[in-house]
Amino acid sequence: MPLLNLKDYAGVIHLHSAYSFDGRTPVTEIIRAANQNGVDFLLLTDHSTLKARDDGFEGWHDGTLVIVGEEIAPRFNHYLAFQLQTSVATAGDPPELPPQIYIDRVRTKGGMGFIAHPDHEGTELFHVKHYPWIDWSVTGYTGLGIWDFMTDWQNSLSGYLRAILSYAFPAFFLSGPSPSTLTRWDLLTQERRVVGIGELDNHDTLKRVMGFNLSIFPYARVFRLIRTHILTTGPLSGNSRNDIITLFDALRNGRAYVALDYYRSSTGFSLLMAEEGRYATLGDAFHLHRSAELKASIPYRGRISIIRNGTLFHRATGKDLSVNICEPGVYRVEVSLKIFGYYRPWIFSNPIYVTRLGHRG
Ligand SMILES: [Zn+2]
Ligand SMILES: [Zn+2]
Repeated sequence: MPLLNLKDYAGVIHLHSAYSFDGRTPVTEIIRAANQNGVDFLLLTDHSTLKARDDGFEGWHDGTLVIVGEEIAPRFNHYLAFQLQTSVATAGDPPELPPQIYIDRVRTKGGMGFIAHPDHEGTELFHVKHYPWIDWSVTGYTGLGIWDFMTDWQNSLSGYLRAILSYAFPAFFLSGPSPSTLTRWDLLTQERRVVGIGELDNHDTLKRVMGFNLSIFPYARVFRLIRTHILTTGPLSGNSRNDIITLFDALRNGRAYVALDYYRSSTGFSLLMAEEGRYATLGDAFHLHRSAELKASIPYRGRISIIRNGTLFHRATGKDLSVNICEPGVYRVEVSLKIFGYYRPWIFSNPIYVTRLGHRG
């Protein structure tokens, strides 16, 4: 986005290493896969521990900035927490701790948190339990996972043949964010800023399927799947401490979009609102005077949909789209890409929050 001088960093959020009871891959191996796949930042979220940071893994590793957060994961209501000095989990916590308690703990410690895989369904065929978010009375979280690779992929495992194909070609079996997640997100953003992120939730677990030990998934196979792009004002400096702050500031403000970067990289996507020399982009609030121009651009031809308050507002096919905005509302963009004759989900942006001034200033 040259006009606002924004830099686009593509990374992955929500991963489990050998520091998780249900993970097995050493962090060094995950970092190697991230380096090889052009992952700019990696948000590690082992279960209730920041041990990877204590062991010195946080910081730049060649082209990848590793940042250590944690996942609080009782039976339901899993929560990703970042920017913490110490874990919010305590040994005496009951297994059914109400989520508002850990949301508040994260806030009290100055961190930010995201509701993880809110509509996870599991899969009966392969005996994977469901881990949805069920307590929606909560407040004070920064955002939520709008598109989780594991939720989406597991939903494709409806039969053995499909499962084999889906294991071999996961990208082709992803159908996009769960519609119920998007509906809920669209309602929430009409109340306040709720930042949408992408998740992988990969564990590299070994599953014995039909006599074979399959890894779900080797990290190198998932790092080009669902990515979160964070737009920063100016480039990162190479100083780990400062760069982590820069990335989190942008993320907290919703300067982010989620994309399936497997077919084509989405880097270069931009969304800009402009009126009378004033500009806004992803996550920003914008005061409408009379009418503004909303312009979406993508690096490859696709089907661009503008969603206003959860409803399709405008749709066109091409490399950019420009519409006049005369009404306040919460505007976000979805893009799908035609691959082998079918439109497949590609980009899901955070919204621009458009209000109208009471009277002209
Ligand atoms: Zn989880
Ligand atoms: Zn997880």
